Amino acid sequence: MIELKNINVTFHQKKKRIDAVKSVSIKIDKGDVFGIVGYSGAGKSTLVRVINLLQRPTTGEVLIQGKDILDFSAKELRQQRKKIGMIFQHFNLMKERTISENIDFSLKYSGLSKAKRKEKIESLLTLVGLEEKREAYPSQLSGGQKQRVAIARALANDPEILLCDEATSALDPKTTSQILELLKKLNQDLGLTIVLITHEMQVVKEVCHKVAVMEAGEVIEENDIVSIFSNPQKELTKDFIRTATHIDQAIETIAQHPTLTNLAEDEEL
Ligand code: ADP
Repeated sequence: MIELKNINVTFHQKKKRIDAVKSVSIKIDKGDVFGIVGYSGAGKSTLVRVINLLQRPTTGEVLIQGKDILDFSAKELRQQRKKIGMIFQHFNLMKERTISENIDFSLKYSGLSKAKRKEKIESLLTLVGLEEKREAYPSQLSGGQKQRVAIARALANDPEILLCDEATSALDPKTTSQILELLKKLNQDLGLTIVLITHEMQVVKEVCHKVAVMEAGEVIEENDIVSIFSNPQKELTKDFIRTATHIDQAIETIAQHPTLTNLAEDEEL
């Protein structure tokens, strides 16, 4: 579906050269849930900008259905960008607009009539489980609900790929699981391809089929999820797995302890 071949992205800042992405080659197939994991500064966001066609690589090829994006016309590139939805850590909702209006904003250039847009918004709200909140404002929603709106908005133009950049980092563990369940559902029921950028291996473990581990701009290890967890090759990958195991144990402890369970409840408004 989308293939990156030997991608390098170099920035120059005050005579300093920053190699944000170095020799990265990855292939994301249709229907994949592909995780890109790495600590802050590893180059994940830059790579996402390459995938969503906002950042042109300094060198290397980006192929969509086998065709180099350099061979796309400006119009074709715009059409391709529409096939990619994005969600972020801090939701990026417009606080002065209602939930319906936030979603409607993405349909502005859809060419749909007002009635069809309304129908579309309702079906998106149902998909993410927020029918009751259509007239609410973002400030009236919990973090998990805000991310559901962001997902609905990202899906408004029927994208083929959903890019999630640290989409659960601002959420507590229980809400994170709920959002990941929704992403799984979108992948399984709608066949949506998902790319998930995170610094949390726990997130990758819950939802991804494949994972690439990044360090200092490079993909140092890439494999399917079972192989990565059962036979990690790099120290950094092992570090990430250890963190995920600790979180698993913490969740188990919370589940067994009624007082802690109450503390972990998502505040529903
Ligand atoms: P991550 O998402 O893994 O935290 P980033 O892709 O944001 O990593 O950043 C990778 C490196 O590239 C960092 O050193 C960052 O400071 C640098 N970088 C990212 N974007 C720019 C830019 N527009 N100009 C200069 N340096 C940048």
